[in-house]
Amino acid sequence: MEFLFNSLLELITQTSTNLPPDVRAAMGIALKQETPGTQSHQALSIMATNIDMAHEDQGPICQDTGMPTFIVHTPVGVNQLVIKKKIKEAVAEATRLGKLRPNSVDSLTGKNSGNNLGEETPVIHFEQWEHDEIEVKLVLKGGGCENKNIQYSLPCELDHLGKAGRDLAGVRKCILHAVWQAQGQGCAPGALGVCIGSDRAHGYDLAKMQLFRTLDDVNPNPELAALEAEIVAEANRLGIGAMGLGGGVALIGCKIAAANRLPASFFVSVAYDCWAFRRLGIRMDASSGVITQWLYRDPERPVERMAKETGFPLTGREVILTPPLTEEMMRQLKVGDVVLIRGEMFTGRDAVHAYLMKNPPPVDLNGAVLYHCGPVMLKQGEEWFVKAAGPTTSSREEPYQADVLRNYGVKAVIGKGGMGKKTLAGLQECGAVYLHGVGGAAQFYARTVKKVLGVHLFDFGVPEAMWHLQVEDFMAIVTMDAHGNSLHAEVEQATGDVLETMKA
Ligand code: SF4
Repeated sequence: MEFLFNSLLELITQTSTNLPPDVRAAMGIALKQETPGTQSHQALSIMATNIDMAHEDQGPICQDTGMPTFIVHTPVGVNQLVIKKKIKEAVAEATRLGKLRPNSVDSLTGKNSGNNLGEETPVIHFEQWEHDEIEVKLVLKGGGCENKNIQYSLPCELDHLGKAGRDLAGVRKCILHAVWQAQGQGCAPGALGVCIGSDRAHGYDLAKMQLFRTLDDVNPNPELAALEAEIVAEANRLGIGAMGLGGGVALIGCKIAAANRLPASFFVSVAYDCWAFRRLGIRMDASSGVITQWLYRDPERPVERMAKETGFPLTGREVILTPPLTEEMMRQLKVGDVVLIRGEMFTGRDAVHAYLMKNPPPVDLNGAVLYHCGPVMLKQGEEWFVKAAGPTTSSREEPYQADVLRNYGVKAVIGKGGMGKKTLAGLQECGAVYLHGVGGAAQFYARTVKKVLGVHLFDFGVPEAMWHLQVEDFMAIVTMDAHGNSLHAEVEQATGDVLETMKA
């Protein structure tokens, strides 16, 4: 097995940096279908640019490289312990090289292991099979979309859709509800894996396994094939749009399996994956570990560029923000304004927000921009470099954000997916704004960072530390302003009204 380690490292690197052709094709269709000039179209354009940048630079498509989940098939007689050991070594090396973000956190102490290894991480499933090669499939699914997975127990009552019964009509309602409840927080447009039936635990497993089907395959069960097509068409009429900014695209695929269930249980389990749908596989020679075939790829077909042009097309109407920001400047901004930030900002996510509830900040945050981001960083010599730095889901900071604005004078918060009523009231009271970045656009935003000026609270681990960054033309959209307006609340209400019309 002399090549096993290198083959696995290549699988991880390619999965993290190069989206498979079926996902690229689906994103290309979404881009063509969305109306040019809309915020949803702008977000899709940035996603396309980001996909190209990640491939060119071999950098992570999204900074959240997820919980690495390996599905391994081996011929009888192959030593699975050796494969497990090599997978762990390859995961640690990919982390050291900045292809994976250190994502494995002790659930009791909160300590990040720093190398993606720890209790039950990475996730590895083994199966034996009749073939004489080893097959390894890998999916990297980040926390933002993982948090939008949902499970229904039928019969149940659903917002806007009413009663969902124990039949395919009830299943359809659950899946539509799953798309609606995700809004932009799972970085729409998303792809769904669904399991009808089974028990709670295995249902979720089987739902996730559907993500290993290609987006353009056709379900061999005609009833499920019809339901898959119907869900995609209906979801794309809801008006969610890319990143939940409102628009015509919400889903790039839906894959459904049915499994037997107990008479008393009827679960519908939904695994929501984001547009940064990173999944690949390899077949290897069982004695040497050399790669004999890539899965989900046609080796004859070169990787095609997604975006027609690089960068974000500027209109000249963008508002330039140069921190420190003042209340007066922020009160002039309104929902829909596009801003370009030039100057300094600080990252801060879950651990930083919890810390700030009990401790003063390690830096002066008056007039500051606080970026909800857990970047991938590499240290070269004494200097840190950003390898990937897109926004993370802001709703996790909802319990803290208004206090942070009030107590420390932060004037702009950047994240994705929007925030709730408490934060909206805090923005209004303090004269601050919420700025929406494009989730997953980790390479696009990494290129706006001109220098890492420092790091604070480093004990929290790389993703959770407070990084002090110098940025140039960091683009974001005002989606919650200082006058009580929230694009997220508007889109949720409008899409809920449309969902209501899909009751039948
Ligand atoms: S694209 Fe969004 S949901 Fe997907 S991993 Fe990245 S941040 Fe998370």
